[in-house]
Amino acid sequence: MLSLDTPVQFVKGIGPRLAAPLNAKGIATVEDLLFHLPFRYEDRLHPSSLRDLKAGEMASVIAEVRGASLLKTRSMTLFEMTVGQNLSTLKCIWFHGSYLKDKFKTGQMVALYGKVEASRSSRGFKMIQPQFELLPSGDEDAEAELLEVGRITPVYESLGGTQFASRWQRKIIYRLLEELKGRVTETLPRSMLDRLKLLGREQALAQAHFPPAGTPMTHLQAAQTPAHRRLIFEELFYLELGLELKRRRLKDRAGIPFETGDRVRQALRDVLPFHPTTAQKRALGEIVADMRKPGPMRRLLQGDVGSGKTIVALQAMLVAIENGYQAALMAPTEILATQHYLAARKLLERSSRKYRIVLLTGSLDEDVKRLARHRIFNGEADLVIGTHALIEEKVEFASLGLVVVDEQHRFGVLQRFRLMKKPNAGEPDVLAMTATPIPRTLALSIYGDLDLSVLDELPPGRTPIVTRRVSDERADDVWKFVREQIAKGYQAYVVYPVIEGAKDDQPELDFAPPDAEAELTEPPKKAAKKSTKKAKPQKLFTEKPALKAATDMYEELRAGALAGLRLGLLHGRLPADEKDVVMRRFQRGEIDVLVSTTVIEVGVDVPNAAIMVIEHAERFGLAQMHQLRGRVGRGAAKSYCILMTGGRPSAQAEERLDAMVRTQDGFELAELDLQLRGPGEFFGTKQAGLPDFRVANLVRDRELLEVAKQEAERFAVQASNEATEEERARIWARLREAWQRRYGLVEA
Ligand code: ADP
Ligand code: MG
Repeated sequence: MLSLDTPVQFVKGIGPRLAAPLNAKGIATVEDLLFHLPFRYEDRLHPSSLRDLKAGEMASVIAEVRGASLLKTRSMTLFEMTVGQNLSTLKCIWFHGSYLKDKFKTGQMVALYGKVEASRSSRGFKMIQPQFELLPSGDEDAEAELLEVGRITPVYESLGGTQFASRWQRKIIYRLLEELKGRVTETLPRSMLDRLKLLGREQALAQAHFPPAGTPMTHLQAAQTPAHRRLIFEELFYLELGLELKRRRLKDRAGIPFETGDRVRQALRDVLPFHPTTAQKRALGEIVADMRKPGPMRRLLQGDVGSGKTIVALQAMLVAIENGYQAALMAPTEILATQHYLAARKLLERSSRKYRIVLLTGSLDEDVKRLARHRIFNGEADLVIGTHALIEEKVEFASLGLVVVDEQHRFGVLQRFRLMKKPNAGEPDVLAMTATPIPRTLALSIYGDLDLSVLDELPPGRTPIVTRRVSDERADDVWKFVREQIAKGYQAYVVYPVIEGAKDDQPELDFAPPDAEAELTEPPKKAAKKSTKKAKPQKLFTEKPALKAATDMYEELRAGALAGLRLGLLHGRLPADEKDVVMRRFQRGEIDVLVSTTVIEVGVDVPNAAIMVIEHAERFGLAQMHQLRGRVGRGAAKSYCILMTGGRPSAQAEERLDAMVRTQDGFELAELDLQLRGPGEFFGTKQAGLPDFRVANLVRDRELLEVAKQEAERFAVQASNEATEEERARIWARLREAWQRRYGLVEA
């Protein structure tokens, strides 16, 4: 007998031949098919009357075909069709429409969906490229008529190929629902459904596909009907339950219970160069409380650029060191690791104790690295600062107590786990830090196995950064302004999207941003591969005005607009020691203007730098521009961020630029970024280990996510009060299945 687990090939009307392409789309079972919900609905119970159409609106129309013809213009063939209701008519146009030539017969009824536009030729309205469906007449296909006329009709995204059109899906799904009637197993406990007033699973599935008459169209389109909410909740509940259990299991593992007596506290105070903000104190308090517990800490410290995460991390590391353990700090780039190393040395010098600090990055000389590894292994290093090299080069610690991962969104989930699994006694605590201001609920679901501390306050004495947009036609004014600021004793960054121009339009490779949009460059990996073959410039670039690049502009500015100033060049393809030298000189104020790529995006801290010029700002992602801007405004001086644009930015680019000018609030920008790019892109789905959802959408369904999280916590604690034994068995089984199959998240 058919069940939700039945493979689709055994479904009547599908069979092995059609099953193959469905499987390829991730639809293996009846359940998968039922969870392929309509992507929109048409109200064919109350279709719009042609007389009531308004230009600019989307409309569903049912009308009779009155006539059609092919029109040949010089460049293409148009298919033009007139449909009517009584005396009113509507014109429909399809470009390249030859394929529609024999599709329609006069007198036939057709359902159309599209944007209504005023028509100049006829007095009425027209629709360009509407979606359409020929409506069945009763004698031909009674079942189709039942599903498509006089009701709210589901419209499905094609599952590939014309054989999987909406009409086909409707029929198959309708039959499946009929056949499964009374046999769709509930996946949530009865008591939870009652308490949250959620629909049963079977009813929810039926109504999501075939909404009852009277369901408001706006609720349907926004996935806000009771049916949708039930299905979304189910998906989020299982995600959260999995995360919750993972977190609980972690707490049971053996970690290190650190002591924080007077001596330790004094050591922390000794290195503080300023009064910590309230937020910093709170975060450190949360971290230290975790470190004292016997279980291993897994905590995320989130704080906008400049909020002062570094000192908090350093103090946490001191707790470990003062307890006789080693601490490691991992940064995503060598520049950043080196900067952390120098800063840590300076801060720790304030203390009378002798801390032994070791830097370990991939590009150091083999000898130096060997010595570093030796010292780490023998416990002759208290604080180890490095890049990925720390995990990649099989570094073994004598007694690792705490790992801090800076800018954690740069690291894959996997690496996070690999690092923790370094063999040594007692599992080390892990503190991850990120400047991506993810809204709290989202952060908790994505890094659901982490606890969260937030720095929601900037250190005092910061003046807001003045942000301006300027077309690069006014570059002369910008350079003049830069010169003036430098004359006042400040330093400037000038950032370009690529390293080299014309000959090879290369994205910054050392540190290609995960949030660069498609138009900026190819994905970093692909580009990296291509570069070995000396790829031709991308077509995109040849059609656009020449893209200014860091190396070329460094020469050009030095010889021209910024002649006489001390310029430095920094990009990912420089040898590491050269990068180092440049960065140190900039830090010491020996360079006035640092021309660079996005290598400086993350973490670089030079308080005297007060001007940030971003050329081709239209090509940068929002998160990235915000990070770049965060490089200035770190001292007391008034700082400026100048967004120069070349050519005419796209509408999306305009939105990003406007937002940058409007606000400096990282959370607000993150919200907008989420909306513009969607959660997948925003988080870099694969990297963040974020599952693909079937019905849920993390941005749209945030409020349900919160509920699901609470419910998951509650269920984890008191499952036996919440559910019968049978329900529990089903939920645990389903959880295992969901995590393995749907989310592909393997237990760490
Ligand atoms: P981020 O969170 O971006 O990593 P940093 O830790 O680099 O920020 O701190 C930014 C700047 O603010 C640094 O120059 C740091 O020394 C300074 N800073 C941090 N906390 C304070 C504070 N409580 N008071 C004054 N300055 C601070
Ligand atoms: Mg930082």
